[in-house]
Amino acid sequence: MTVLVAGAGPAGLMAAAELALAGVEVEVVDAAVRRRSHPRGFTLSARSLELLDRRGIVDRFLAEGPAVPYGMFLPGVFLDLSVMDTDHPYTLGIAQNRVEELLEEWLAELGVRVRWGQEVVDLAQDSDGIDVVVGGERRRFSYLVGCDGSRSVVRNRAGIAFPGVDASSYGLIADVEADYDALATGEVFVLPRPGYVRIVLDEPEPRSGPVELEYVRELLAARLGRAVELGKPLWLSRFSDAARQAERYVHGRVVLAGDAAHVHPPAGAVGVNVALADAVNLGWKLAATVSGRAPDGLLQTYHDERHPAGARVLSTTRAQSMLGREDLAPVRDLLTDLNGKRLAELVTGLDTRYDPRIPGDHPLLGRLAPNRPVVVDGRTTSVAELLRPARPVLLPDDGGMLVRPDGHVAWAADPATLSAALETWTGP
Ligand SMILES: Cc1cc2nc3c(=O)[nH]c(=O)nc-3n(C[C@H](O)[C@H](O)[C@H](O)COP(=O)(O)OP(=O)(O)OC[C@H]3O[C@@H](n4cnc5c(N)ncnc54)[C@H](O)[C@@H]3O)c2cc1C
Repeated sequence: MTVLVAGAGPAGLMAAAELALAGVEVEVVDAAVRRRSHPRGFTLSARSLELLDRRGIVDRFLAEGPAVPYGMFLPGVFLDLSVMDTDHPYTLGIAQNRVEELLEEWLAELGVRVRWGQEVVDLAQDSDGIDVVVGGERRRFSYLVGCDGSRSVVRNRAGIAFPGVDASSYGLIADVEADYDALATGEVFVLPRPGYVRIVLDEPEPRSGPVELEYVRELLAARLGRAVELGKPLWLSRFSDAARQAERYVHGRVVLAGDAAHVHPPAGAVGVNVALADAVNLGWKLAATVSGRAPDGLLQTYHDERHPAGARVLSTTRAQSMLGREDLAPVRDLLTDLNGKRLAELVTGLDTRYDPRIPGDHPLLGRLAPNRPVVVDGRTTSVAELLRPARPVLLPDDGGMLVRPDGHVAWAADPATLSAALETWTGP
């Protein structure tokens, strides 16, 4: 039976590609009639680039964008990413819709085409499968992967609670044609974009409904104490510091990934990256489950690993959104002094460590296996290349290392625990 992926954003496209790579029949639908043409996000982190490298497609992304300074954690302070242990010690500046287009192209090469204009509106699951009302028809699937964004219909219809922290501060994002230099005087947060400017403004009180350009002008003038000419608006939107997380990422035959599983303040620019990390953790586990070759409880480890990772993202993005406050200047100063490898690897998620579920104290257990050259059958290859088919890899050198399809180390160098590791992660 086919797996249905609802939503063709970064999470859905990556999850579908991982399933297709593992030979699972997968369908991807999106309620929108076409991809959003205006980008929300603009960054891919080192961890995302490492993951794309392990699928052999990172060069397509690197060809698109420059390395950009990453300064989101502390307003006005750029993190030094060059100190991180990675092949990609930088942040790639690439528009989110371009990331999605490249993923969609890769997915098509794997034989799966997105079906646009097909909305998921309801579901009912039993022990054998899940009935989904999609595109006006009721159809049966083996699993439903909800990658349908922050207002996820899948999450709601599956009855998965979404507890968290309500918004206490509000902001506007205005992508408009304007003179960057006239705005970049340090009084408002403004980013240059190709042909336009992204202006981020605090909103004094919550409002709802569409954002009008006139309102942006008013807030801007109040902040700057002078009027600034704004041209054509390309995208006007609201955000808040609300942070919520699905209570369960796996609920029977429903699985959630990306914004459907967690929402957090946009500070830190990590949403696309977390969505990709969810999808890569999920794909091989769901593929093994659907194919009937998964060890007991493998799919549940997706929740066990990605829920804490998501909770950490909520916490760090909330911290970042608070740090702009005037009364927190001393905390900002302290963190500026501590700016280094630890902070860089934390905010980029590069230090993510999953519970290996076997005893051991090897420093790489649970961590992303570093890419390095490896000799296999007399041929020199690399860890990244060996992981391209998304299958587990047993590396022979340095005492041996078992690497999961998502690139994380499941076992290292201890003969006493190898069979336990194989049973835990690949089955008997
Ligand atoms: C202003 C702003 C700036 C940001 N900047 C960055 C940044 O620089 N870097 C970064 O990494 N992240 C950034 N983010 C976050 C990022 O945009 C999101 O976290 C990311 O898009 C999440 O991907 P997703 O695939 O989970 O969901 P989405 O991208 O939201 O995709 C969900 C898809 O599901 C579809 N859908 C919805 N309902 C249904 C349904 N019922 N049936 C079928 N399909 C459905 C939608 O049409 C959509 O295509 C930013 C966000 C905002 C708002």
